[in-house]
Amino acid sequence: MKRSLLKNLLFLLLLGINCIAVGAQDTQQLPETSYGPAIDPAKGYLVAEIDERLYWVTDGLYNAMFLVYDEGVIAVDAPPTIGQNYLKAIAEVTEKPVTHLVYSHSHTDHIGAAGLFPKGIEIVAHEDTKAILERRKDPRRPIPTKVFEKNHEIVLGDQLLRLTYHGKNHIEGNIFIHAPKQKVLMLVDVIFPGWVPFKNLGIAEDVPGYMEAHDIALDYDFETFIAGHVTRLGNRADVEVSKAFVTDLKETAQQAFGKVDFMKSAQETGFEDKWKMYNTYFEKVVDVATAEMKKKWDGKLGGIDTYLRDDVWAMCESLSVDF
Ligand SMILES: [Zn+2]
Repeated sequence: MKRSLLKNLLFLLLLGINCIAVGAQDTQQLPETSYGPAIDPAKGYLVAEIDERLYWVTDGLYNAMFLVYDEGVIAVDAPPTIGQNYLKAIAEVTEKPVTHLVYSHSHTDHIGAAGLFPKGIEIVAHEDTKAILERRKDPRRPIPTKVFEKNHEIVLGDQLLRLTYHGKNHIEGNIFIHAPKQKVLMLVDVIFPGWVPFKNLGIAEDVPGYMEAHDIALDYDFETFIAGHVTRLGNRADVEVSKAFVTDLKETAQQAFGKVDFMKSAQETGFEDKWKMYNTYFEKVVDVATAEMKKKWDGKLGGIDTYLRDDVWAMCESLSVDF
């Protein structure tokens, strides 16, 4: 019952997103860069080869990838919104069985459909991801069977996937997944090609690490970028744009703290209710930074009116405690 309710909600969400996208196209509310390839609504997903038997699969909100080698398939992530369609997508291009599954990180929305794949396959993840999943005890997210600390290579037939952990960013255990032959880099929930980050910088647990991840990504040799979200594949330019956005966000937020007079704000709220005093001041700083950022970024990235203020909030919060 619970599961079918969740499925219905996800379906409605996807349907809603498609409707919004169509409506937005009419009213020019989203920039061109936010749109991805059309997805056949009857199928609900799209699968396409990037290069040399490396495929991406998307439902227009989530994306994952899989690599076909001579005896099987290595899947990377298993988002529940794609769910059963993941198996259909793989079956469209190969009859070979899935033998390996890589978890980018521990979050359910990216790996919660892992149970789709045959029992007994090798599940590879960072050791921190395994530690988190052991605590979660979630049957939808089986415990990894192979973990690593810094690097791990999956070499099968003539295919290679390089997994590397560069430290905490979005969450501990979130890894960089590189297919050197295909020049593809996958990093989930950090860069959102064509869009501002999801709420609160994609729910970044470590904002300095989140920012650093951009430079680490750009050090890789890649042409195609798979972000886990949103509508399309990314490229180096998308990573550069995201880096410019978060760099600007940090500077703008820093300046905003200097533009709002704390004592003046506190005199308005009074000093007795400490939370109100602080929060009112903080809200004013966030408002100033959001207005500045909107002036500079409106029309360049999608989702500004939805998540820009939350992204600013997360940066202001991080500036208060991390930097
Ligand atoms: Zn995540």
